[in-house]
Amino acid sequence: MGNPTGFLEIARVTPERRPVTERIHDWKEVYKDFPDEKLKSQASRCMDCGVPFCHQGCPLGNIIPDWNDLVYRGRWQEALARLFATNNFPEFTGRICPAPCEGSCVLGINADPVTIKQVEVTIIDRAFKEGWVKPQVPAVRTGKRVAVIGSGPAGLAAAAQLNQAGHWVTVFERADRIGGLLRYGIPEFKMEKHVLDRRLSLMLDEGIRFRTNANVGVNVSVDELRHDFDAILLAGGSTDPRDLPVPGRDLKGIYFAMQYLPLQNKRCEGDDIADADFISAKGKHVVIIGGGDTGADCLGTAHRQGAKSIVQFELLPKPPAERAVDNPWPNWPNIFRTSSAHEEGGARDYCVLTKSFSGNNGQVEKLHAVRVEFVERNMREIPGSAFEIPADLVLLAMGFVGPEKNGILAQLGVSLNERGNVAVNGTKMTNVEGVFAAGDMSRGQSLVVWAIREGRVAAREIDRYLMGSTDLP
Ligand SMILES: Cc1cc2nc3c(=O)[nH]c(=O)nc-3n(C[C@H](O)[C@H](O)[C@H](O)COP(=O)(O)OP(=O)(O)OC[C@H]3O[C@@H](n4cnc5c(N)ncnc54)[C@H](O)[C@@H]3O)c2cc1C
Ligand code: SF4
Repeated sequence: MGNPTGFLEIARVTPERRPVTERIHDWKEVYKDFPDEKLKSQASRCMDCGVPFCHQGCPLGNIIPDWNDLVYRGRWQEALARLFATNNFPEFTGRICPAPCEGSCVLGINADPVTIKQVEVTIIDRAFKEGWVKPQVPAVRTGKRVAVIGSGPAGLAAAAQLNQAGHWVTVFERADRIGGLLRYGIPEFKMEKHVLDRRLSLMLDEGIRFRTNANVGVNVSVDELRHDFDAILLAGGSTDPRDLPVPGRDLKGIYFAMQYLPLQNKRCEGDDIADADFISAKGKHVVIIGGGDTGADCLGTAHRQGAKSIVQFELLPKPPAERAVDNPWPNWPNIFRTSSAHEEGGARDYCVLTKSFSGNNGQVEKLHAVRVEFVERNMREIPGSAFEIPADLVLLAMGFVGPEKNGILAQLGVSLNERGNVAVNGTKMTNVEGVFAAGDMSRGQSLVVWAIREGRVAAREIDRYLMGSTDLP
């Protein structure tokens, strides 16, 4: 702990966002660079707690006080080693993680928490800039072969770990590019895709094989995989979206978020998508149903496409500005947050239940809703509160109900748990010998940081299954 009084003298500072008027005209990340000197001073706010609750808050168990101290002392390469000890992809989590570690930071009890996420992303960005991140090719190959189905953060983390253990890993991805939701869910303005490509290029150099347009269970047979590989990891994500089966749902102009967002991400990649095949918010009254992060991603995308108006509806009440009494530290603070997309415009409305859609010539034009209240956790409609608003484009962002049940899961005969996700035992193995599962596919809809953790744990267990013991962390 370089500066024992840092937390008393220095206020929390986070990087500035680029001006709204500038950023809504491009797709680049919204945050400005954060100078090293400022970062060092922020790192010096860390108290190097005897019991660092930030560890407990981070699903990866990141060794946060160590990096804070090393950054404060300017020992960047040692900080990088600590970062990689627990996380394969700090350049992803440092950009897009909601940072549960900060919610658990001890300083957060009576002050603003340490800017942990900013320290993380600065270390790794600097490391790439300085050329410190090099492919780590395993010295010895075991001859074992592992198929990873799905190239989101869970599949990628598992692939990286299994490759380090010396196994030959092939990642199968049904999309045309690798990355899962990192590629086609998360918009460019949250994470520019060259960050992902840079990592994938390292993984290729390390010996990992990637097969795109490979839809296992459709154009790649499950039997072939069972025959060719010694173990299989299912990391196909939670891709079945929650629907809103109300009258008018079949009108044109109503889409799931994951029908809308990937098209823009593809255009940002330079793909030539005809207007007839594209979903654009340009000049439209847009209604987003779902007040979470996916909804916010739709919001930021619709701003940049030039929507006429945007409203985001949420069924639940508006969260409080401060932690409620039943939501104490070190739990994740359920508080009202303003993401970069919210700062850019649009309205948010809470306790709204959509009843139906209406339109003309098969195209949606209006959304009909009613206000609700919650009494002892029971929702009831408020009499006389019905209203309607114009809606040319409706985006459903109400989460996901689990993995797709047909296809690969049915063909493998994999059992599901009571929540409809792939059931695994303590070693992440499914009921089918040699078939493991990780990430949203078994955990349910979650976060990138959890997917990385799940991928790492599954890799360790697969290594143990193949070799009888494991040295993977
Ligand atoms: C719009 C959106 C924004 C989000 N933003 C954030 C955020 O900012 N921060 C955060 O922490 N979390 C965010 N999340 C959640 C996070 O992205 C997920 O929790 C995480 O990506 C899950 O990782 P995964 O590897 O389990 O699955 P995914 O990332 O979903 O990847 C699964 C991959 O498997 C492929 N696949 C499925 N079936 C097959 C098959 N049969 N054959 C071949 N390939 C297959 C899919 O095409 C997909 O590419 C967001 C989610 C969404 C939807
Ligand atoms: S809980 Fe906060 S102050 Fe304590 S060690 Fe972790 S980052 Fe530092």
